Amino acid sequence: MEKIILVRYEEIFLKGLNKKNFENRLMTNIRRKLKKLGDVKVTSSQSRIYIESKDPAFDMDEAMIILRKIFGIASFSPVYKIPSDYEAIKENAVLIVEDMLKRNPYKTFKVEAKRGDKKFPLNSPQICADLGGVILRNFPNLKVDVHNPDFIFYVEVRESTYLYSEIIYGAKGLPTGTGGKATLLLSGGIDSPVAGWMIAKRGVELDAVYFHSYPYTSERARDKVVRLAEILSEYCMGLNLHVVPFTDIQLEINQKCPQEYLTIIMRRYMMKIAERIAQKNGSLGLITGEAIGQVASQTLESILVTDDAVNLPVYRPLAGLDKNEVVEIAKRINTYETSILPYEDCCTLFVAKHPVTRPSLDKTIEYEKVLDEERLIEEAVENTEIVRIY
Ligand code: ATP
Ligand code: MG
Repeated sequence: MEKIILVRYEEIFLKGLNKKNFENRLMTNIRRKLKKLGDVKVTSSQSRIYIESKDPAFDMDEAMIILRKIFGIASFSPVYKIPSDYEAIKENAVLIVEDMLKRNPYKTFKVEAKRGDKKFPLNSPQICADLGGVILRNFPNLKVDVHNPDFIFYVEVRESTYLYSEIIYGAKGLPTGTGGKATLLLSGGIDSPVAGWMIAKRGVELDAVYFHSYPYTSERARDKVVRLAEILSEYCMGLNLHVVPFTDIQLEINQKCPQEYLTIIMRRYMMKIAERIAQKNGSLGLITGEAIGQVASQTLESILVTDDAVNLPVYRPLAGLDKNEVVEIAKRINTYETSILPYEDCCTLFVAKHPVTRPSLDKTIEYEKVLDEERLIEEAVENTEIVRIY
């Protein structure tokens, strides 16, 4: 009895003629991620993906932890693969249930069968009824409960037969690399890692940009962003983090522009620099963690002024979420604990006591005129450090 992993996808079914491309990309991503565990064979058949390894070092539990972070996987199961022969099915089912009962105090069960191979002599209801009877006879303490069983014994008869009882939910979404690339403005806060994760989930590769205001923001603040990028990279197959020196720009804006417009002008500079970097790395859009109304710089008026700074589409997947909804996702994807580490944020430096909540675009553009925009942006981009996180 061979133990392998069966992987299911959902949305890829809707891709029509492109389905094969999506499936191939998902298989490539699975191979890349599992490579470090040893020799692995990843194949597909009838819209399912199968992962098997004869390598004695292959750690199935570790593989399943990795699979949970691969976009495009709807769910997966550790399964026993056996020949499609009813005698073999009965024999192995008894062995598997016996093993399960050693580890779990199960009292009730039901059998669910799927016959993908119509040549198999029993149909699905017949397999359920007969195999249910076999299990009851071998384990007199078990009872059938079709509504709320302690475990479901699944039987899938295809070219081989797969027996299992566990279904683990995956990260869903679409396989990384099927949706082009976008550049995430990644701060050390709670919001932006979640925003990046949400867009990456749709198959989009990420690059990230972090604006670092050394020495006003410390090396530890930078390390925290690197750590967040590492957590994100586990989901999105690696990324480049561009660390932009932002101190000179902030000092100059602070010196030359009206106090209540500091934040909004700084945000426009972030967008412009991110766009420059995005164009160099082949990104098709920018991503921010802005949520409507969260702070003064995220009112609709402020977002309009911020957005005006760039031509690339800006994705704001958190626009309609409340803070606690964002926190919930951050906890689920494991960025929260890092995000709440208390290191300073460049946006909390040089902040006005009363930033405008309804900035005017005309005034903003007028106030910006005193700045030597091209030089500031050029210098920042030139001195950007790229950290490869793979
Ligand atoms: P976050 O929790 O993501 O820091 P926030 O609620 O603190 O967001 P702001 O500080 O107004 O909001 O920033 C809005 C967005 O601008 C962030 O979500 C992020 O995308 C981007 N941003 C802010 N500061 C930086 C920075 N230092 N480097 C890169 N991007 C930044
Ligand atoms: Mg922030």
